[in-house]
Amino acid sequence: MPDGLRAAAVAARGFMPTEEGDALWVAALEATAAVPGSPLLEIGSYCGKSSIWLGAAARHAGVVLFALDHHRGSEENQAGWEWHEPDLVDPEIGRMDTLPRFRRTVFDAGLEGSVVALVGDSPTVGPFWGTSLALLFIDGGHGSEPAHRDYELWTPKVASGGTLCIHDVFPDPADGGRPPFEIYQRALADGFEERRAVGSLRVLTAAR
Ligand code: SAH
Ligand code: MG
Repeated sequence: MPDGLRAAAVAARGFMPTEEGDALWVAALEATAAVPGSPLLEIGSYCGKSSIWLGAAARHAGVVLFALDHHRGSEENQAGWEWHEPDLVDPEIGRMDTLPRFRRTVFDAGLEGSVVALVGDSPTVGPFWGTSLALLFIDGGHGSEPAHRDYELWTPKVASGGTLCIHDVFPDPADGGRPPFEIYQRALADGFEERRAVGSLRVLTAAR
């Protein structure tokens, strides 16, 4: 990954550890080589940190990253929850709004030509999405209903030979919530093959 872009990703605000972001870049390079010409899509962009690693790979491959987020935060990002950041609340409406920060992150990284924001609710957008994906990254709502719904709605859109990445997979319940781990297990049961595990990131590929 170009040094400047990697530095921008490391410095960006958000929840993607550097080692796992680097693994996303590698997964995206491999995915775009395996499925040339198809885009990448991430569910859950927040302030755009993971979007830099994936968007850099998209640019390298001449495709785009669709960055899907309603930018209102997950349950765990709301006031009173563990992952809340109060300065990301729009004071006039009292709701979170991470879109301005996301746009700034992508602009500063010079990736506006390769990262396309899809601002909306995942289950609202999903039924209308018809393009098969070289890579799908699931990092949206981590509750049971949102995680399983994202899995069911979006994994059928992964191209054969394409890649599925899931974040916040914790085999030990003491380390974090269950739903991402559960959908990772569903992916294995559904025939996705595990390629790599880095921290809480799992990289799987769909059979050809
Ligand atoms: N990948 C990010 C972290 C994502 S946090 C990083 O690298 O920092 C999870 C994000 O999922 C939040 O921004 C939240 O708004 C989004 N999200 C949660 N449920 C969603 C839904 N139903 N549709 C779209 N986005 C959703
Ligand atoms: Mg995450």
